[in-house]
Amino acid sequence: MGDINRPDSIDTTLLSSEPLSYLPNPDIGDWFLEEIRNREKLILDMGGEPVKLLKRRWEGTKCTVCYDEVRRQAESDCLTCYGTGIVGGYYPQINITVSLVNPATRTLVIQDHGVKREVTPRCWMQWEPTIQGKDLIVTRQNARLWIQNVTPTLWKGLVIHQNFDTEVIEHSNIIYKIPITL
Ligand SMILES: [Zn+2]
Repeated sequence: MGDINRPDSIDTTLLSSEPLSYLPNPDIGDWFLEEIRNREKLILDMGGEPVKLLKRRWEGTKCTVCYDEVRRQAESDCLTCYGTGIVGGYYPQINITVSLVNPATRTLVIQDHGVKREVTPRCWMQWEPTIQGKDLIVTRQNARLWIQNVTPTLWKGLVIHQNFDTEVIEHSNIIYKIPITL
C-alpha cells in the first residue's frame, strides 16, 4: 500500500470538497524534496564524472612533525599533514559523481600576484556529502583539483544541489603525494 499522504494515492473524490487541503502536510514536502534530489542524481548518473572526494580535516591531532604553535602554521611540504597542520590532512576518499564543466571551453587562466591559476567555474554535484572550500577532487586521470566557492541551492532550508568551482592543483604540490586508490 502507498503512503496515503502522497498526492498520487489521495482519493481524488475528496479533492472537490477539500481542494488543496493536503498541501500543508509536511510529508508532501519530504516527497517533493526526494523527487528533486532523485532527479539531480539521475542527471549525474547519466552525464556526470565519477571522482574521489577528499574532505579536508579542520580538527584533529596537530601535526607533530611540522606544526608551529607560535606562528600557527604548517609546512606545505609535510607528508604527515599535507600542509593542513592536522595529522592525516584529509579524510579517506569518498566516491562521488560530479558535473565538471568542460575545461577546454570554460577554463579561465588568471594571473594572481604573478601566479598563473586555472579556474574552472561552476561545476555541480548533488546535496551530499556536503563540500566546502579546500576539499579536494581527484579525477579518474589522477588530476587533483581544489574545490572553491561552494554555493548550495536550498529548498525550504534544505540543500538540494551544490555548485562549486575547481582549480587545478600545481603538480609540484604535496597534494599529489596523497595515496589515492583510483
Ligand atoms: Zn605537518
